Amino acid sequence: MATVEHDLTHQQGNGAAPARGDIPVENPATGGIAGHVPDLDADAVAEMAARGRAAQPGWEAFGFDGRARVLLRAQKWLIDNSERVVRTIVSETGKTYEDAEFAEISYGAGAFGFWAKEAPNYLADERVKSSQILLKGKKLILRYRPLGLIGVIGPWNYPLVNSFGDCIPALAAGNSVILKPSEVTPLTSLLLAEGLRECGLPDGVCQVATGRGPTGAALIERVDMIMFTGSTATGRKVAAAAAERLIPCSLELGGKDPMIVLSDADLERAANLAVYYSMQNAGQTCISIERVYVEAPVYDEFVGKVTDKMRKLRVGAPNGPGSVDVGAITFPPQLDTIAAHVSDAVEKGARVLVGGKAVANVGGRFYEPTLLVDVDHTMKIMTEETFGPTLPIMKIADAEEGVRLANESPYGLGASVFTRDTERGEAIARRLEAGAANVNDAIVNYTALELPMGGAKASGLGSRHGAGGIRKYCSQQAIVITPRLALKREAHMFPYKARTTRLIARLFKLMYGRGARD
Ligand code: NAD
Repeated sequence: MATVEHDLTHQQGNGAAPARGDIPVENPATGGIAGHVPDLDADAVAEMAARGRAAQPGWEAFGFDGRARVLLRAQKWLIDNSERVVRTIVSETGKTYEDAEFAEISYGAGAFGFWAKEAPNYLADERVKSSQILLKGKKLILRYRPLGLIGVIGPWNYPLVNSFGDCIPALAAGNSVILKPSEVTPLTSLLLAEGLRECGLPDGVCQVATGRGPTGAALIERVDMIMFTGSTATGRKVAAAAAERLIPCSLELGGKDPMIVLSDADLERAANLAVYYSMQNAGQTCISIERVYVEAPVYDEFVGKVTDKMRKLRVGAPNGPGSVDVGAITFPPQLDTIAAHVSDAVEKGARVLVGGKAVANVGGRFYEPTLLVDVDHTMKIMTEETFGPTLPIMKIADAEEGVRLANESPYGLGASVFTRDTERGEAIARRLEAGAANVNDAIVNYTALELPMGGAKASGLGSRHGAGGIRKYCSQQAIVITPRLALKREAHMFPYKARTTRLIARLFKLMYGRGARD
């Protein structure tokens, strides 16, 4: 695919903003330059925040129906412009055409429709009944009110799904949004924001603040809530900054997803999924399979199948649909991390059955699909996030050992277990310390926008998708309405009188004192 040249320097936000200079955006598959964006400073972010705050009440006043109309137009826009969006994603990530089309376009289009339809259901006023006697006859309402201005900070691995995708529910709830995409992959977000404006989103409601870490830090200082996706190390800094300001934050962080293969599994399916979900997007997916545990009786057969399938993968620069299976390594330092994890494993006794090194003598940045065996938990490849096209497979005695090793991790994003006994699979899934656990599958939970997607342990705080994935962009307001014909003075009020106090105490005894002690 030809390198596309984007010059989005002046498309920033909805007006001119001061910048510290340009950030070149590299095409990792070719080494060419895909575009330039401004590196916005704190003053520029403050200006954008003022614009976003000014625009928010008007957007909220569109109501659910008005906002849904814009989001549904955006859904159509995305499909109509999918070639252009895919080209942009591929140009700044170096991923394959399919990784952009299957994962990003499908997610974005689905998300626009889902939040347009579900926002009014998840955020509808709730009438509440209370058992509290003082409240009898009053109207109790739980209401979800948009927080105002939401900051979204994203990583480089899925510029549409993980950066722009989190803006959609925030917008559907009636907020303004400022998105700080990764400095490595900002072009897709700028293009999507342009698309939203074409679809009738008012100026200032969705702005893109390009820049590096300091731009993200400046954004946290200006917003009412921060939605962060990225590494656990940066997530801790974001949480600390949000705590200083006492604003809510939602964190989607790193992972080291385990896959457990039991002796009775459909080995052909398990092997196909192990290869696909470890190598898809060149392994640069937060919920990609990063380590596999296989029961001893089927270990050799499983490894044999995976070896055959992995050898057939084509790695290289994407050149349209069907051209390669595994694309580029998007973020330059990631190549060093992958190489370091592989050499650490080999030094400690692992064997490389397929791949094992960077692809040499090509313009872009690629790593060979790599299969390792004889691995254990002394090796980084089994314990730290590799985020590359590597698949280490470890032999285990039984399911118990698999569960113990799967849970022996600071991370807890996704996990999977393969067995023909789905009841047993479900019982094991319930014991896995992960935000999502799949039986005979992996990653697909992400496509169920009705289910929460979030990490346990060091993989995050909060979740995206489902009711929680939009309510987090709102504050809950409790509204209590007392009818017009209420008592002038209620019994518990001044002046206190011994007789009334005794009466009320007797009432409490009647209400709460009748149960047994144990
Ligand atoms: P990163 O943490 O290096 O950067 C993420 C974003 O934070 C970037 O936009 C960066 O500019 C910004 N940033 C850096 N310092 C900041 C600061 N002090 N304050 C505010 N913002 C700051 O992560 P990355 O390398 O871009 O992304 C890869 C990581 O993201 C992996 O660990 C991966 O697992 C994770 N990820 C998680 C999910 C999920 O849903 N859990 C999804 C995708 C990626």
